[in-house]
Formats: sequence, structure tokens, C-alpha cells
Amino acid sequence: MEKKLYDISVIGAGPVGLFAVFYAGMRQMSINLIDSLDKVGGQLNALYPEKYIYDMPGFPKVMAKDLVNSLWKQAEFAKPDLNLNKKVTKIHSPSENKKYFTIACDDGSEFESKTVVLALGMGAFQPRKLEAPGLLERETKTVHYFIKPLSTYQDQRILVVGGGDSAADWTHTLSELQPNGKSIAKSVTLIHRTDKFAAHEATIQAIRTAGKVDIHTHTEIKFVENSADNTSLNVQLVQNLTKEESSHEFDHIIICAGYLAKLDFVKESGLQMQGNAIQVNDIMETNIPGIFAIGDVCTHKAKLKLIATGVGEAAIAANFAKVHIDPTSKAFPGHSTSKFGH
Ligand SMILES: Cc1cc2nc3c(=O)[nH]c(=O)nc-3n(C[C@H](O)[C@H](O)[C@H](O)COP(=O)(O)OP(=O)(O)OC[C@H]3O[C@@H](n4cnc5c(N)ncnc54)[C@H](O)[C@@H]3O)c2cc1C
Repeated sequence: MEKKLYDISVIGAGPVGLFAVFYAGMRQMSINLIDSLDKVGGQLNALYPEKYIYDMPGFPKVMAKDLVNSLWKQAEFAKPDLNLNKKVTKIHSPSENKKYFTIACDDGSEFESKTVVLALGMGAFQPRKLEAPGLLERETKTVHYFIKPLSTYQDQRILVVGGGDSAADWTHTLSELQPNGKSIAKSVTLIHRTDKFAAHEATIQAIRTAGKVDIHTHTEIKFVENSADNTSLNVQLVQNLTKEESSHEFDHIIICAGYLAKLDFVKESGLQMQGNAIQVNDIMETNIPGIFAIGDVCTHKAKLKLIATGVGEAAIAANFAKVHIDPTSKAFPGHSTSKFGH
């Protein structure tokens, strides 16, 4: 069967990739949207679905997962072919034998496209896993590397592991008093393998001042097993300086040990990098004509890693992708007010 040829393939279904889909739809392009995760939304859905974002134009505050839902609703009219659970492993540039880009994925599938927009964020990310016995078999049930809906932790005893912003933010969120005078979690314990927190100082200070969190520094998990009555977790902690061990009961463990992000295919595909980002010019084009990069993954003189600026880059890339395909078309798309009628 002949492969479908897309006008544009957007790799990365984070907020910036979703907005590129919307604009490509405004330009009547056929669209392929690929992501290695099993849902759209990028970092917003994977890392902080229930946090409020305060710097979106027109929204005094908006919950991350709600912003994703709105972006998806807005993008859907463009009828993209949505290819989730596919990690892109290589982009082959046009050659003598092949006129267009070929996008290869880890499951063996390939797509052909006239243009490519890379909205990869920090790359295909996976949580850094801890190796203590008992963690692996409890993953997603009571051991979490991706945060679950906050209702999961209601009135539960929570162990948070880590010293960065995510660990501190979840500790704070789960332990702070809600308008009803109660915190979400019944109790929160925070452990960190050193005594130096990389998290924002103000958050650590707020946690310490509230005095509601049991904080153990220089502490790691030795092993996890079920409690004697099988209703909770028995976690053996070890102080890594004194080697002193202590046993604790929790209902859930949230591990925030950072993420391993891979952008390896980018270099291998011949794209020019500056540090960990893809170099683009003022129309968001990379060193390979027809491949654009936007959002957190790209860099240029005015780069800010924000959603507000990333979606602007998405509009630029999608419109110049149109010009790449049809050099007689204008970059300016017209106003949505007139395109969509009343
Ligand atoms: C806790 C936290 C709070 C934040 N708060 C704010 C805020 O208040 N305001 C703000 O503007 N920004 C905020 N940010 C930053 C914001 O989330 C990012 O700037 C934004 O997500 C970047 O969007 P993106 O679409 O470029 O990338 P991402 O959201 O990272 O999406 C990239 C997508 O590409 C996919 N991908 C990567 N590589 C591949 C591959 N090889 N194959 C297939 N798919 C791939 C990934 O799976 C991912 O879904 C926050 C970030 C964090 C972590």
C-alpha cells in the first residue's frame, strides 16, 4: 500500500506542537502528529496536570490539564492523524531516490512528509528510576513516577523522594492546608539523599515554616514491602551517613528523581545543535530546509522557554512550512476572525 504523504508532520504533542497543528489546519495542510507518550499534552499532562498556570494570555489562571484539553479541542478541527506511543528515531532528508522527508519510529513505522516541525520539548522523556527492592513491582499502583490525580492521595500517608522543584512542589501541595482547613494528604514525609535541596528556596522555606512535613535529609529507600496486614507499604529507610535504618508505613510513594530526556536522533539526523537545543533562524527553520523547531527544544537569540512564546513560534513555523511547500503562498495566514466566519 502506498504511504500517505503529509504536508506537515509535527513531532511532539505538547502545548507548542498542538498549537502548530491548529495553525497548519488554518493553512489547509494535511497533518501528522506524533508523540512517544500515550496522550497529548507534553510536560503539562505528564508532569503537572493539576497545577495552575498563571501566564497564559486571557486566563488569569488555568489548570495545566484544562489548558491541554482546550488546545486539543482547538487543534482537532485540523483533523491531524494522531500517532501516539511512537518515538521518532530518525529523520531521513530527501535524497535522489526519495523526494520527501521520511520519519522513522521505534516500532518500525515510517511516515513521509513534505515538512517537519520538531516540538520535542526536552526530548522523549522517561523518569529516572530508583533501584531499591520492592519499587518496580509496585509502579503505577502505589509507587508513582508520574503524578496521579490529587484525589489518589486524599487522606493518605505519602512519602515523597527527591530534592528538586517537583519533589518540593508536590510535598507543598499535598501538605498545605486547603480552604476546608485540612491538607490533601493525611501526612507527608520528604526524603532526600543529600541535605542540599535544588528546589526553589521559597518552597522549601514554606514547607519548613508550616512544620507539617517530616523531612529526612541524607536518607534513601533501602527496600519496600507490604505491611503485615497487606493494606499499606512498609518502607525501610536508611540514613546514608550513619547507616542507621528506620521502618515507616506509607500508602503511596512519589518519586521525583528527575527525567532522562533523549534527543539523540536530532544530531543523527544532521540537525545543528547549540548545547541541548536545536538552532533555528528567525522563521524557526533549522539548518535543514523544510525542518522547523519550536518550543522548549529550539534556541535563538530571543529564546524564552515558556508556553506563551512557544505558541508564537508554532504559528511562525506552520506558516513558513506552508511557504516551503508552496513558495507562491503568503506567510501571513490572514486573521482567524475572517477565516472562521462569525
Ligand atoms: C512543574 C513545571 C511548571 C511549569 N510552569 C510553567 C508556567 O507556569 N508557564 C510556562 O509558560 N511554562 C511552564 N513550564 C514550562 C512548560 O511546561 C514548557 O515550556 C512547555 O511544556 C514546553 O512545551 P513544548 O510543547 O515545547 O514541549 P513539551 O511540553 O515538553 O512536549 C514535548 C513533547 O514531545 C514529545 N517527544 C519528545 N521527543 C520525542 C520523540 N523522539 N518522538 C516522539 N515524541 C517525542 C514528548 O513526549 C512530549 O510530549 C513549567 C514546567 C514544569 C516542569
